Amino acid sequence: MQSPAVKTYIGIGSNLADPKQQVIDVLPHLNQISQTRLLEHSSLYQSAAVSEIEQEDYINAVACLETQLTPEQLLLELQAIEYAFYRQRSDELKWAPRTMDLDIILYGNLRQRDSHLSIPHDQLQNRLFVLQPLQEIAGDLYLPGLGSLSYMIQHAPSLRIEKLA
Ligand code: AMP
Repeated sequence: MQSPAVKTYIGIGSNLADPKQQVIDVLPHLNQISQTRLLEHSSLYQSAAVSEIEQEDYINAVACLETQLTPEQLLLELQAIEYAFYRQRSDELKWAPRTMDLDIILYGNLRQRDSHLSIPHDQLQNRLFVLQPLQEIAGDLYLPGLGSLSYMIQHAPSLRIEKLA
């Protein structure tokens, strides 16, 4: 029997190697994940890097997928896409520049906290670069324990962020 389809939101970020193009190019890859389709995506946003080192601005977006994969299966698929985009991981720098970062922001109404997967994403309330594009495509979602998206946007740490044309 097939699992029911669940709506999930994916945060996309890149700040290396033509980041706008990286974010545009990753969208068809999200649509090609098995048992998954891309329903819609936000505009692109440019935001200051949250980092202890000087680095380029990020380009961010949020995609809405419908999937029959479990969150764990979806995470593996997203990590495979990150590696396909030649992501450079650094063991020394938590906030190293990256060609592609894909995070599961929400997965239906699931609330899960464990060592390898936190849903809703455990930094959601601190990340205007996710909250703003999320609001563009999800309207004013209410997240139990966190509040509405507009409440979260009002209370998130300030960040330079601009919606791109
Ligand atoms: P990052 O370097 O920020 O991409 O973090 C990657 C690690 O965060 C992965 O090894 C995941 O196991 C973990 N992780 C925890 N929650 C999530 C989530 N909601 N989406 C993606 N990765 C997550």
